Amino acid sequence: MENYDFVIIGGGPAGIGFLLQISKDFRNILLLEEKRIGGEIFYAHKITNFPAFNEIDGKTICFRFKNQVKKFKSNIKFEKVLEIECYKNFVLVETEKNQYKSKYCIVATGRKEKILKKYSKLDLKNRYDSIKGENICIIGGGEVALDQSLTLFEQGKIITIISSGNFNKVNMELLKSVKRVARKIYIFSKIIDLQKVNEKYRITFQNKEKIYTKFFDDIILSIGSIKNLPKLKNRNERIYFCGSVKSKKLKQGSISFADGVKLAMKLSIKLKGVRNENGF
Ligand SMILES: Cc1cc2nc3c(=O)[nH]c(=O)nc-3n(C[C@H](O)[C@H](O)[C@H](O)COP(=O)(O)OP(=O)(O)OC[C@H]3O[C@@H](n4cnc5c(N)ncnc54)[C@H](O)[C@@H]3O)c2cc1C
Repeated sequence: MENYDFVIIGGGPAGIGFLLQISKDFRNILLLEEKRIGGEIFYAHKITNFPAFNEIDGKTICFRFKNQVKKFKSNIKFEKVLEIECYKNFVLVETEKNQYKSKYCIVATGRKEKILKKYSKLDLKNRYDSIKGENICIIGGGEVALDQSLTLFEQGKIITIISSGNFNKVNMELLKSVKRVARKIYIFSKIIDLQKVNEKYRITFQNKEKIYTKFFDDIILSIGSIKNLPKLKNRNERIYFCGSVKSKKLKQGSISFADGVKLAMKLSIKLKGVRNENGF
């Protein structure tokens, strides 16, 4: 079984921030990523809050992250982690292909979309899926929902947004852009029913006192996120969380990246002390 000082799970901004910083002091590192280097920021339409870029899209950021970690090619494997088990002196990380032993494990697995359990059989889409048809409804009112509507508008889709709130948590610049392109936006709306009827989605919702029923080619759910965690057994001090998996307060790419760098600095200082005391 391969042995490491650090196994990092997740190659999004948090995992990359950790890798870049920890590699200044340690060499025996493995980063495990399920899909792609760069993580969720891949889906961002227009990013204006990243250091050193006036404006950049998510796909380009991922491309640049990929280039930046090229020199760590031998430290990166594309495998999905299924289970993490903590022991007194090591952590066992199990993927679909292998098992790895590590002194420490960094969990930087981000967040995943919430689903509407009541309608889980309806095959409602989220940002990972390909969207069919032209007439699209987005259910949700956060920045991710709005950002997604801009991406879809550029792909030629007609966008309707149904939100239970009034966008008070999203930034004004984004909201202004979306108002310019969306066909219709319903705020303070409550979903009453969702059905699939002859390959279309029929949605019934209440907006103020009025009940509406509308048909769409496809529906995207963007109603918030939850922690995206592999199975975790016997959590102890050998495991650290970083980036947006820790809290939804950290759900900006640059904050996640900085959290990875910060954690690596903290651990480097702590472990170099132990290493020096032991004379190696
Ligand atoms: C549409 C959209 C627009 C956005 N716009 C902006 C913006 O303008 N500015 C900004 O700063 N942020 C933006 N964000 C938020 C930003 O993408 C996230 O805050 C950031 O990506 C979080 O970084 P992270 O590393 O914590 O998690 P993630 O980016 O989610 O990375 C986690 C990584 O872990 C991997 N992973 C998960 N589970 C496993 C497993 N079991 N095994 C192996 N690998 C696993 C995932 O594949 C992923 O690559 C946007 C996000 C979206 C979706």
